[in-house]
Amino acid sequence: MRSQPRFRHGGIQIDASKDWQPARPARNAFLPNGAVVPLKQHAGPAARCLVRKGEYVREGMLIGKAEAPSSANVHAPVPGVVRDIRRISLPEGGDSEAVVIALEGSFDRLGRREERYLWKSMTRRDMLNTLRDRGVVDTEAPGRPLYDLLGDKEGPGLLVLNAVESEPYLRAESSILLDKAQEILDGFDILRKILSPERSVIALDDSAAAESFSKANAAGSRETALAEVSVLEPRYPLDMERQLLESLRFDRGRGGKKALIVRPSAAFAVYEAIVLAKPMLERYVTVAGGAVKHPAVYKARIGTPIGDLIEECGGFLGPPARLILGGPIRGHAVHDLDAPVTKTSSAVLALTDEEVSSSRRSPCIRCGRCAEACPERLIPELLYRLVSNRRQAEAVELGLDCCTLCGACGYICPSRVPLVASFAAYRRPLPATGEALR
Ligand code: SF4
Ligand code: SF4
Repeated sequence: MRSQPRFRHGGIQIDASKDWQPARPARNAFLPNGAVVPLKQHAGPAARCLVRKGEYVREGMLIGKAEAPSSANVHAPVPGVVRDIRRISLPEGGDSEAVVIALEGSFDRLGRREERYLWKSMTRRDMLNTLRDRGVVDTEAPGRPLYDLLGDKEGPGLLVLNAVESEPYLRAESSILLDKAQEILDGFDILRKILSPERSVIALDDSAAAESFSKANAAGSRETALAEVSVLEPRYPLDMERQLLESLRFDRGRGGKKALIVRPSAAFAVYEAIVLAKPMLERYVTVAGGAVKHPAVYKARIGTPIGDLIEECGGFLGPPARLILGGPIRGHAVHDLDAPVTKTSSAVLALTDEEVSSSRRSPCIRCGRCAEACPERLIPELLYRLVSNRRQAEAVELGLDCCTLCGACGYICPSRVPLVASFAAYRRPLPATGEALR
């Protein structure tokens, strides 16, 4: 194993030991009495609903059919009766039809011995079709179907298993490394077989979970042991594509070589779909923040209300100042404890007023820390002044449209100037995030 330098400019050092304990194996969340399953948990249009109110559904049954590009199949995470089909708001914006399943009847998978399929004899096309049928999507928002990401005939120059969690509080990917090392490595091998990349890298940080995963990899006789292992400094925003590829010194070259970046949770979903013939029914979710009594990582069924997960953590210590789905820097505020876990949910955070710090907002003191932190070499303080004075054209000239909304400047700002919200309001729309294969 050899160390690699970090990305070249900016970023912020996150001291993970400050927010809560190191990653531990995940706990199994209680099964939800009522699973709320959105038919849009992916980048494209919602899947078409295949069930009716009052109908009994089995665990893993197809309940939503993908009928458009970037859409994905949706399966029943629990057995039960369809109590309702209604529209719900999605935390990341927009709304979706959702199937509400009241838990009832027996499980087809849970608690039963799982049959394993020999993936090495499968063809690339068979594996791709299986991933499509099982509704496997990239576990990072916006949840692009892996069938679309992998279906590109031309193999990428680089395939990365990115296990570095660079936002504070997040531990789900580390927990899955501890719980499912062999399965993740098999999933990564499957991806390597589908894609035949020129170079494969396992990107880790220096955490105990990463170390144990690295040992599991080195001890195995599988092909993944041949992949390069890079230990990277967990400096935010290392999980953004440009910063990660720069850290790995990946050069697209003149031909514009492509790179595919997947999370351990996505590699695990690939393993489950191909080896166990299992659709995406569960997610590893971090439940943390200063307002949560006992933070933990849970393996939860899709459709589990986030309020149920917080209850499992012992509830709130006090009223949270903000509830966030995802990381504290790039996550989405959520106002409803009934909001469900989806295929792309990585975390539920209940933050205290002190953690949010909105009450300490004060004028800019020109300290320059935002510029030091900006990985795109922008001067956020200056951009903010320009957009606040409606001088957007000048801000664009100074690089406003290059802002990736990574949030590093806002996180580091001692005055809590609302930098990122202003940039989000004034910059041109970003290209779709999660389009890793480009
Ligand atoms: S970090 Fe905040 S206070 Fe410091 S220069 Fe930037 S905007 Fe101003
Ligand atoms: S949000 Fe934009 S301006 Fe702020 S650090 Fe990130 S890229 Fe730079």
